[in-house]
Amino acid sequence: TDHPDRSVTATESVCPLCAVGCRLAHSEGGRAKGREGPANPNGRLCQKGATAFEAVHADDRLTTPLVRHNGDLVPTDWSTALDRVGSDFETVCDANGPDALAFFGAPRCTNEENYLLQKLARTLGTNNVDNRARLCHTSAATALENRFGWPASTNRLADLTSADLLLVVGANPAIQQPVAFDAFIRPAVADGTTLIHVDPRRNETTRIADQHITPRPGTDALCFHLICALLVEHGYIDASFINDRTKDYEAWKASLSDIDIDAGKRTTGVDTETLFELADRIGTADRVAVAGGTGIEDSGDASSTADALLNMLLLTGNVGRPGTGFTLLRGLNNEQGAVDMGCRPDTLPGHQSLTNDAARRRVADVWGVEPPSTPGHNEHEALDAFGTAVHGALVVGENPAIEKRDADLVTSQLDALETLVVLDVFPSETMEHADIVLPAAIGLEKTGTVTNLDRRVQWLSVATSPPGMARTDYAILAALGKRLVGSGFAPPDPEAAFDELRAVNPLYEKLPDTADERWPVDNDSPLYADGFATHDGKAPFMPLTQVVALPTDDELVLVVGSRAGGFEVEHTVDNRIRLNVDDATVRGIEDGDRVVVATGDSTVMTTAAVGDAVREGTAYLHADVADPLVRSATGTPTVTVALAKNTRHS
Ligand code: SF4
Repeated sequence: TDHPDRSVTATESVCPLCAVGCRLAHSEGGRAKGREGPANPNGRLCQKGATAFEAVHADDRLTTPLVRHNGDLVPTDWSTALDRVGSDFETVCDANGPDALAFFGAPRCTNEENYLLQKLARTLGTNNVDNRARLCHTSAATALENRFGWPASTNRLADLTSADLLLVVGANPAIQQPVAFDAFIRPAVADGTTLIHVDPRRNETTRIADQHITPRPGTDALCFHLICALLVEHGYIDASFINDRTKDYEAWKASLSDIDIDAGKRTTGVDTETLFELADRIGTADRVAVAGGTGIEDSGDASSTADALLNMLLLTGNVGRPGTGFTLLRGLNNEQGAVDMGCRPDTLPGHQSLTNDAARRRVADVWGVEPPSTPGHNEHEALDAFGTAVHGALVVGENPAIEKRDADLVTSQLDALETLVVLDVFPSETMEHADIVLPAAIGLEKTGTVTNLDRRVQWLSVATSPPGMARTDYAILAALGKRLVGSGFAPPDPEAAFDELRAVNPLYEKLPDTADERWPVDNDSPLYADGFATHDGKAPFMPLTQVVALPTDDELVLVVGSRAGGFEVEHTVDNRIRLNVDDATVRGIEDGDRVVVATGDSTVMTTAAVGDAVREGTAYLHADVADPLVRSATGTPTVTVALAKNTRHS
């Protein structure tokens, strides 16, 4: 049925536009107003958050279920659409088994919706469930999980204010997490915290930094290993922490002898004086914290970079105390929750291994079905297997058709499926390949919990109904579960689902009904205050394994800026390529010139912005503009930049 009354109430909820998780409410004039919360203690919202309600009445919302008929997507009723999904998925399963299905989860959906999605996959018999946001921080999250215990921020956001030294790596929180930046980082710096910004591009965060470090792209890991080597050489280590809380230190220390500081300096492009100064600052600070963003993933040596940063924290005893540790600067509002709920091919809810018999039994006691123990396909593997091993897919709130891979390959893979089901709020490129489209709700039209970037679990409240025939993802997934599994599949509402997920997820077990606390239990102390969540309670050191490949002389390493985090907000894209003045001069390029940027067969024509925002040897483009170049490259793209013929700007 249609929802006739869509007036918006002043219900208090949580901003659905990024992982900071500010509290908000509707106000006069259709705008959101902030209200005080742990992530926005001053009650402020950023410009983007203030527009959070605009999507409620956006003209292009999906409002009707659609099924493909004679090549076109045509409107239908819910019963027909759900029956079509049910019979298509049953046909795929009967012919090929449950592993012929894949489920792509939803970092913008609630915990209860993500919980239901992975429950649907696993109850049907497959672990082919993943979510794209898992890939946004995969190296840092994996390093944290493998070495400390959980793929999550170690400390609360407010702890950043007690750091003596904060390293922001591969991120621009002044723009990407603006309220957290203004509430915690800016006041900390004003109060004496030293801010070191490690990023290939000077940006808004750099403006308040004490030091800006710009290792050549691809050499971040080596740079941090060099700093670790200097910390050891100068005796800036916490021997009792290393002894009591870590392992493999001696083997790691021996591996440092392979590092030649002078050669490393030449490779990273960071001069010796800067490296010494940074090691000195880290070594003499009592509390050192790291905040890492998606730039770590784009650094070309992401795993080694994350490992080196964790080595640095272990070496100096900077874990388990306020003002220390690692903050994962996540982007989408429920990235953390989607992985916590088990939308991963290799873990159950609560990051419990599939091979953990006790965990599988605990889940089976609640579900009545034991999940399979063999890991499934991650999203990339599943996409590659479309049309061969995987024949049906359910994509919730994602758009794999425009992910950073060969566009033609991905779209032909989508077309190779027997059935593609898309749940979404707005039309997308992926929807053009769908057989069935199910219209869903935004965060302000539903209830359920979301988990922000410092592990705080908060309830959303319903401010209005979804438009037309659109339903919440929870209602849609519950209906699909009823059709495919049986009437007892889904708890009756998100509140009951929160009860159920707490019964199977040990990290959420102690959260109260009202949530508003941080997992695993709310206290203000950081994770790992007494020991790491590893099998022996110790965190290992990891040696540098990366091999650095540098571009040829006439090429520049392309640094790609991230897309805006909010899907409902229009944003202005700076189309210009940023070049260092030295690189521009040798190419005869001046500020404002039209230039051709090329890699392989792909070219982009754009305008040069010449200055000192990027270091020599690198160039910066926004992701939307860099797309064709990134798609045709494997690994970190290197590009040539040349003056476009007869187009000199005058
Ligand atoms: Fe919303 Fe993020 Fe802005 Fe806070 S910082 S108002 S959560 S977009």
